[in-house]
Amino acid sequence: MRNGRDGPRSGRGEDRRLGGGSAESLRQALRRIDGRGYPAYRDLRGAYGFPGYVLVVDHVQGDPFAAPSRMRVRVPAREAGFPGELRRRGSREIALRDFLTRRFGDACRRLARGERGSGKGGLIAIDRPGQEVLERTSVLVAENGEVEARFVMGLPAFGRSVAARDAQAMLFDELPRIVEASLLFRSLDAEALRRHVETTEDADFLRAGLRARGLVAFVAEGAVLPRASGIDPRPLRSGRVVPFRSPTAFRVEVELPNRGRLAGMGIPGGVTLIVGGGYHGKSTLLRALQDGVYDHVPGDGRELVVTDPTAVKIRAEDGRRVEQVDISPFISNLPFGRDTTAFSTEDASGSTSQAANIIEALEVGTRLLLIDEDTSATNFMIRDRRMQELVAKELEPITPFVDKVSQLHAERGVSTILVIGGSGDYLDVADRVICMVEYAPVDVGAEARAVAERHRTVRRAEGGARFGEIASRAPVAASFDASRGRYETRISARGLQSIDFGTHRIDLGAVEQLVDPSQTRAVGDALRHATRHMDGRRTIGEVVALVLEDVAARGLDVLSDRPVGDRAAFRPFELAAAMNRLRTIEVRKPS
Ligand code: ADP
Ligand code: MG
Repeated sequence: MRNGRDGPRSGRGEDRRLGGGSAESLRQALRRIDGRGYPAYRDLRGAYGFPGYVLVVDHVQGDPFAAPSRMRVRVPAREAGFPGELRRRGSREIALRDFLTRRFGDACRRLARGERGSGKGGLIAIDRPGQEVLERTSVLVAENGEVEARFVMGLPAFGRSVAARDAQAMLFDELPRIVEASLLFRSLDAEALRRHVETTEDADFLRAGLRARGLVAFVAEGAVLPRASGIDPRPLRSGRVVPFRSPTAFRVEVELPNRGRLAGMGIPGGVTLIVGGGYHGKSTLLRALQDGVYDHVPGDGRELVVTDPTAVKIRAEDGRRVEQVDISPFISNLPFGRDTTAFSTEDASGSTSQAANIIEALEVGTRLLLIDEDTSATNFMIRDRRMQELVAKELEPITPFVDKVSQLHAERGVSTILVIGGSGDYLDVADRVICMVEYAPVDVGAEARAVAERHRTVRRAEGGARFGEIASRAPVAASFDASRGRYETRISARGLQSIDFGTHRIDLGAVEQLVDPSQTRAVGDALRHATRHMDGRRTIGEVVALVLEDVAARGLDVLSDRPVGDRAAFRPFELAAAMNRLRTIEVRKPS
């Protein structure tokens, strides 16, 4: 339905197949099951024509404490009334759907009376987006303008018996008011909707245009980068907030479709260092850049902070599993001659995990690495002259990143933005140096060169002449076995940071660019979907690309066997990250 290529799926035919009929028949069914055992609610499955929309009851919960029942409403185009220019395919459609999800959620909180009886009774809720504007399955808009919202309802009970009068109030009083308040163009704040759609379109335009300008990131003048707190992603408002000011050396101007001319800091490709004293805003800038692969809502402060869509935040992640990754560009001659062109471990160290994270990102086609010293392994990042002398190269398997970062750009076109306040050795390899001074970026390239001249590094380069080729890996479908007990496949996301896959748990705690639990759920679905593309020859990068192609062609619904409203779009990198962190994954050398 997302692209409406096969027409809206609101055909009356399907609704009839589901059973049901008029709203009146739903009312009668409710009357009939009043006071009966909870499973009698199952009779409600079906589609019902209400004034102005069709209600579809897809799944009825088994008891009052189970996950709430899944429903949809479909509002025909003429009733919904969204003008064509607000639902143009691509950025605008996604922003419109995001906006409607937010308004539907607001209306639920305002108009649903909430808790009734036992369990989840009384709940009416829809997926709840955060600061990002992501494609979601919560609201769909068909090519012809029909709107579908997918939500959940906790069907009310007294003890374990059907509370039909309460259910009637929810279905015949609250839900119609929620739909009326949130899914019709005439009820909405048209100005806010326009801003939402135009902001998203501008950000996508800006991001898509980076490469042609030779840039890997752009931070708009006046952007607000700091967040309210480490656990609250809304903009910082209290105290003194310093809006972003671009240094003249990196100031560029762009022309956006809606906003027109805009100035900001453009970061070109190559090796960029962000230096500066502790607490001067280095990590905050990098964080904004890593989140710049996503669009943000108006008022977020980072609406026009955008990064190359393939940017991957790299960090150390000791304890993770690694399966036959070619980390030889960074690590070679391990004790006892262990192979590092197909390096496996159940318990990676800080440096080997960081090396594997980089190689795995390269496998999926990243063009920009983002690295913060705060979350890096020191011995992976630097190795100074004194250490070189004390521990001979023959006894040190690690070639530090400082010796590889320029080769990555020269040979593979992969840029790096690096926060480093602690080691001047990087000055020799930097294409530019930005110093954060009281939250303001300053171009210190010339000083950095002068300092590097004055204090010549006495360390020896260890990187060799080339970055080196990396062996590709083909995942084995059979190693993605999600069976558990009586379930053929059992995959369920547990919040943002982990997925239960069969009897194993995938830990995504270090995958920082996974930002929404609905993305995690979709990645879980995609793991199952991906196995159909694994033929023992296709590489991880190819398999992941095929999954994303399926999603692009047929929407996120392609990943699940039933309509679900709590899935959001994810990137190839996060899907690959989940695959790579599955403790059972096995790979082969392709061909
Ligand atoms: P660094 O990495 O340089 O040590 P951080 O980026 O962690 O510094 O920032 C330190 C603190 O300053 C954080 O609490 C952050 O929220 C705050 N901060 C960052 N940028 C700004 C800004 N532009 N205005 C106000 N406070 C900021
Ligand atoms: Mg920091």
